[in-house]
Amino acid sequence: MHAEVLVSLALRQVDKVFHYNVPSSLAGKVQVGSRVLVPFGRRKVEGYVVGFSPAPNPADLKDVAALLDEGPLFTPHQLALARWMAAYYLCPTVKALRAMIWPLLQVKGPKKVRGLWPAACCEAPDFRRAPKSAAVWQVIQARPGLSRKELAEAAGVSPRVVDVMVARGLLRSEERVESRDPCQDLPEKRIKPPVLHGEQIRAVSKIIEALDQKGGRQVFLLHGVTGSGKTEVYLHAIAAALARGKQAMMLVPEIALTPQMIDIFRGRFGRQVAVLHSRLSDGERYDEYQRLRTGEAGVVLGARSAIFAPLEQPGLIILDEEHEPSYKQEESPRYHARTVALRLAGYAGAVVVLGSATPSLESYCQAVGGGAYHLLELTRRVGELPLPSVRLVDLRRELQEGNKGIFSRDLQEAIARRLSRREQVILFLNRRGYSTLVVCRECGLVLKCPHCDISLTYHVSGRLRCHYCNYSVLAPSLCPGCGSRHVAYLGMGTQKVEQEIRRLFPTARVLRLDSDTVGRRGAHREIVDSFREGEADILIGTQMVAKGLDIPGVTLVGVINADISLYMPDFRASERTFQLLTQVAGRSGRGEQGGEVLIQTYSPDHYAVTCAQNHDYQGFYRREMALRRTLGYPPYTHLARLLVTGRMEKEVQEAADFLAQAVHAAGVPVELLGPAPAPLTRIKDRYRWHLVLKASAQGVLREAATAALDGFSGTGRYRRVQVSVDIAPQSMM
Ligand code: ADP
Ligand code: ZN
Ligand code: ZN
Repeated sequence: MHAEVLVSLALRQVDKVFHYNVPSSLAGKVQVGSRVLVPFGRRKVEGYVVGFSPAPNPADLKDVAALLDEGPLFTPHQLALARWMAAYYLCPTVKALRAMIWPLLQVKGPKKVRGLWPAACCEAPDFRRAPKSAAVWQVIQARPGLSRKELAEAAGVSPRVVDVMVARGLLRSEERVESRDPCQDLPEKRIKPPVLHGEQIRAVSKIIEALDQKGGRQVFLLHGVTGSGKTEVYLHAIAAALARGKQAMMLVPEIALTPQMIDIFRGRFGRQVAVLHSRLSDGERYDEYQRLRTGEAGVVLGARSAIFAPLEQPGLIILDEEHEPSYKQEESPRYHARTVALRLAGYAGAVVVLGSATPSLESYCQAVGGGAYHLLELTRRVGELPLPSVRLVDLRRELQEGNKGIFSRDLQEAIARRLSRREQVILFLNRRGYSTLVVCRECGLVLKCPHCDISLTYHVSGRLRCHYCNYSVLAPSLCPGCGSRHVAYLGMGTQKVEQEIRRLFPTARVLRLDSDTVGRRGAHREIVDSFREGEADILIGTQMVAKGLDIPGVTLVGVINADISLYMPDFRASERTFQLLTQVAGRSGRGEQGGEVLIQTYSPDHYAVTCAQNHDYQGFYRREMALRRTLGYPPYTHLARLLVTGRMEKEVQEAADFLAQAVHAAGVPVELLGPAPAPLTRIKDRYRWHLVLKASAQGVLREAATAALDGFSGTGRYRRVQVSVDIAPQSMM
């Protein structure tokens, strides 16, 4: 038998198994899941063993050169999932595989430190004439495993005393594995679950029923209004899964994976929870993976990529806020965690729970009208609290009546009222920085990033920043085009809102939560905790304030401008706006004083806005579905997007034309939109064109895209142009 190896070169052309001979020195050690070094062409490359079979030409077989890790890095389960991903998303299999195991590749292994233990053999020695040794002995009995220095320090002696005791055989030195626990410094407060309310009980018992059934995957869509207690349903379902010897995954959007959320999970399940998110160090992530692999931890709480966590027996997979675009990875492999979760559950026979106050149209249409999902509903807030009342403020009127400021008079009054009653306010604006458009009033020059076709944002630090590539430059005092002094700072971000608030309400205590203020580790927790404790009156922020915050003191949420997301050139713009408005409105009125929401908008008649105002998910769903049907967009059709990028615009355009021809030549029933410049026409010095393929079935779409890609790599022209495929794209930018 010979080893089947996938080489770690992310190229379509070599995405197949190559056979290698396992030399006798490695016999028995090389297994499915092993990472090896193999000769490939004239060099040696990394590869992954995915099986064993007789090679077709055993005569010219080369040997596996080396085994790179002790044990296997992935399970047959994960391999199957990677193969499916490769076929589904048209990406090289190794890319998918590496997405699953990368935490294991970042560090060498567990962290080992030397520690000291009392020698097992001896009785308590006689230290009557050696008080220093006695002190050391006392400490080591209570706290074995300390290092030489720690031990000496704790006993109040010089390290040499310890050395002598080691030499005399009283202490032995040993290596031990030190766990890098991301939650180490968090107190573990055990939290008793509350008594569930009626709708929660119904939902939980349906999920438990499914857990108890043998057989295939079952999918639930938990549609619960904001504040209805969805998290409590998840927690009970997870506890039920654990009680049945199953493991559970809980995925949340990265920015909702707050320290508060982690506290809740740790409080309920203790060390059984492994946490995976982007702020962990490589070592912490490695150790959390190990705890899952050994079964020490049976619950994963994580963001998108946690769907690949190495669980032996996932019995329950939960996606909270299942509609969130951040579940889609926007670089290869361009997977959607929800799609992967559904597939994984298929293999494992697991139960899937998709939860949201504003389900994606894709999911909701599966849960109504005879679809494959079961719908679970939480229609009321916990404790019979009403949903907040939502008022719209027409910014056109405001302008006509002479108010050019950021805040309408209504919003200013509402804020003032909250301040006088010592209640709390959240202000939401989905743009960071101070001023989002810097333009010369004389020559009209807009200051743009030299690498992207994006206007620069002015920050209070005095610098202009590109929010796409992070380029930054000192803001010029004169127009770089004409030398004029009349440079205007238009458009507003959260920093400007903060400044205005401080000007209008000088005594208010203000906090800002956006990616500029949470850079430092722990800053996010500090800001939210401080606001929760009532140490601030007003919290200003981007999307970060829209998700997950459950703060009873908040009685007013103000949306500074609802239109920002509404007119994006993306067919999901209305859906995104409706979701965002509903989510952020849901932060208000979670306490007994009730709550109110004010939405400032230039489009008070748009159905995405009015449906959010009326908490009318069904109404929005009907309107939007009708529109999608007319325009032939998902969920009625399937899309794929080919994105073509390169440094020379002409080459990019020609390559895009070539791809379009190849799609036509494939002769399959797909509709082709474009080629056209993408809405973001240039990012990081690369021009961007795209083609959108539309079809009634996914299979055809993949066929057309594959034909185009094969034709493209076949021509050998356009070597400097890159093409990426996005199956079921979430962003059309
Ligand atoms: P959602 O995720 O649906 O917006 P949350 O899960 O944040 O709602 O729940 C809102 C609040 O209600 C939380 O503080 C939660 O602890 C509390 N809660 C949930 N269920 C119950 C219950 N049955 N009894 C009392 N409080 C509950
Ligand atoms: Zn100028
Ligand atoms: Zn840029």
